[in-house]
Amino acid sequence: MLRNNKDVAPLRGVRYFLLDMDGTIYLDTTLFDGTLDFLDILKKQRKRAIYITNNSSKNTKEYIKKLHNIGIETTEEDFCTSAHALVYNLKKVLPGARIYLVGTPPLAEYLEENGFVLVDDYTEDPEARPDFVVLGFDTTVTYEKLRIACDYLRDEVEFWATHPDMVCPMRPGHPVPDAGAFLLLFKGATGREPSFVAGKPNPCMIQMVMDKYGLRPEEVAVVGDRLNTDILSAVNAGVISVCVLTGESQLEDIDAAPPEGRPDYVFDSIKDLYLLLAGDETTGDSFSGCGGNGLLPGNICNNM
Ligand SMILES: [Mg+2]
Repeated sequence: MLRNNKDVAPLRGVRYFLLDMDGTIYLDTTLFDGTLDFLDILKKQRKRAIYITNNSSKNTKEYIKKLHNIGIETTEEDFCTSAHALVYNLKKVLPGARIYLVGTPPLAEYLEENGFVLVDDYTEDPEARPDFVVLGFDTTVTYEKLRIACDYLRDEVEFWATHPDMVCPMRPGHPVPDAGAFLLLFKGATGREPSFVAGKPNPCMIQMVMDKYGLRPEEVAVVGDRLNTDILSAVNAGVISVCVLTGESQLEDIDAAPPEGRPDYVFDSIKDLYLLLAGDETTGDSFSGCGGNGLLPGNICNNM
C-alpha cells in the first residue's frame, strides 16, 4: 500500500520511471513479486523504465545478461550507470584526458571507448602523467594500484569518483567494500577527497536521462530503496521520488530523515506502485492529512 497521504495524480502522470535495481526490483538474483507486472503496465501505458545504478564495476552488457536471467529483457538504451555519468561529465571538462584508473576492466574499456587514455604506472614525465585519478568500484583492486593512485593524489592530480557507496550488497547478508570505503582510504593516506562524484546522490544520472529525452521534472520519478542515494538524487534533480520498503530504508528511517530528504511517495513494494498505476491501489487517501492523526504508521509527512 501507499504509506503516506499524498495526491497520486502527479505520480500517475509520470512518463519515465528511473529504477534503482537491488532492493527495489530484485534482491540479488530473486525478482520481487510485482516487478514484471510493473514493467508490463509501463509498456501498456507507453511509459518507460530506465535502470539507474551507482555500481560502476559492471558494463551494460553484464546488466542486460543479469536482468535476462531473471526474466527482464532490456537493451543498452535502458541503462544509466555512474560510469556513464562520470564519462558524460569528463567529456564536457576534458575530452581525451589521460586517466589513472582504480576500477575494473569493464570500466577501463568504457573509458577507452570514449576516447580517454589510460595511464598504467607512476611517472614524473609531464607528457605521460594523468590529468585525472578516477576511482570506481574496483573488485580487481591491488595494493600497487592503491599506492600509485596515492602518489598521483599527493602530486595534486585532479580526483574524480564514480559513486560514494560504502558497501555493495553483492551477496545477501555479506556486503562487500565499495568505492566509498576506498574514498576513506585515500582521504586517510593523502588527505584528498574527490572534487566530483558522479553517482547518486548527485543528480547527474537523472539529468543525463532528462537531457537525452527532453524531459520535464514532472515527467520523471526515481524509484529506490535508499534515502541517502536514490531519494536524495531525486530531490537534488527536482523530480518525483518514490521509496519502496523492500531494501535498505524502513519507515522509521524515513520518519527520522530531515523533511527535505524524505520521499514524495512511500510504498511497501514495487507491486503496490504497479497496483496504483493499474488503478487498483490501496492508498492512504482515506486519512486526513500530514502532521497529525492522518498519518499511517511511521508518521511520514512530506512537503511537496
Ligand atoms: Mg538499492
